[in-house]
Amino acid sequence: MPTKTTVPEDHRDDARPQFVLEALREHRHFVMCAHEKPDGDVLGSGFALGLALKAMGKTVHYFLDDEVPRNLRFLPDADKTQRTFEGIDPSALYVFMDMSDRARADDALAAVPRAQIINIDHHLGNKRFGRWNYVLEAEAATGILVLNLIGGLRQTVTEDIATCLLTAIISDTGCFLYSNATPSTLRVAATLQDLGADKDVITEQLYQTRSFSGQKILGRVLDDFVLTDDGICYSTVSQKLLESFGASHEDLEDVVGALRAVDHCEVAALLKESPDGSYRLSLRSRGRVNVMEAARALGGGGHFRAAGATLAGPLADALDRMLTAVRAEMEAERARG
Ligand code: 5GP
Ligand code: MN
Repeated sequence: MPTKTTVPEDHRDDARPQFVLEALREHRHFVMCAHEKPDGDVLGSGFALGLALKAMGKTVHYFLDDEVPRNLRFLPDADKTQRTFEGIDPSALYVFMDMSDRARADDALAAVPRAQIINIDHHLGNKRFGRWNYVLEAEAATGILVLNLIGGLRQTVTEDIATCLLTAIISDTGCFLYSNATPSTLRVAATLQDLGADKDVITEQLYQTRSFSGQKILGRVLDDFVLTDDGICYSTVSQKLLESFGASHEDLEDVVGALRAVDHCEVAALLKESPDGSYRLSLRSRGRVNVMEAARALGGGGHFRAAGATLAGPLADALDRMLTAVRAEMEAERARG
């Protein structure tokens, strides 16, 4: 169990980092935890905080029930993730990063008690599932919250930490393309580059390198997409297609962005079949329609302009439910005027 702190058991205050800082200072053992389908924000944030805590003499483990995606293997400490609890102290605190709901974490983490969870996140509707919560919904990336914490711990932002945090920001802003890239986000990114973050490696890996099969599948998705009269642009990727190219969902990173770019598209949707016959849905909005609410109606979540959910098959039903949920949000947007 965690050692004693001054934080009340039911602590749910979330906008200020001080209680999280206290927990980070007082405890010795930490486990960085990611959501399923880990991305540059969750991994960059975890490695950055892990590096800073190790510099303070703490023990850090990176729990990841996935492979690190190929395009993120350049991250410092990316070779140190583990799929088991081997070597983890029973008193360790588990830092859940970049997830609004602990159900987004690997199933293996379901048994971690709330008393040992720190929740650091920037998603709308975060459930404050940790004993300690630090949630800033207005920030573009969890990495920015981690930078605040590292500052609060009075730790040096090394070149490696700067690279991790710039990866988090570049990943969640779509390389500064999305509206969440505010002047303050850009200033933080500039500071990280000044501190030695390797911007060129990050952008090359995240935006200028696609797998052969991913690029081929993008071609199919663009060939097959449907644009409805009310501005929903959707396409699907079947397991059969993935298998024919020896590809996985990892090869489909931001294929949905290519649908969103179609003129007259208000909401883009990509349905990706999983081996178990369910569909992973990715939603993107041009900016008027709140796709987070549409995703939430389908049991998922995310952000105003980028969200996702898992839908049961068959495909026709999944498509139907997606269209109904998106249209309900379009209606809500029209009602708001
Ligand atoms: P993507 O389409 O890239 O998988 O996800 C877009 C955004 O939606 C991400 O920020 C992710 O956090 C969120 N998201 C995707 N799937 C889910 C889901 O099943 N549940 C929740 N709560 N959020 C999701
Ligand atoms: Mn994020």
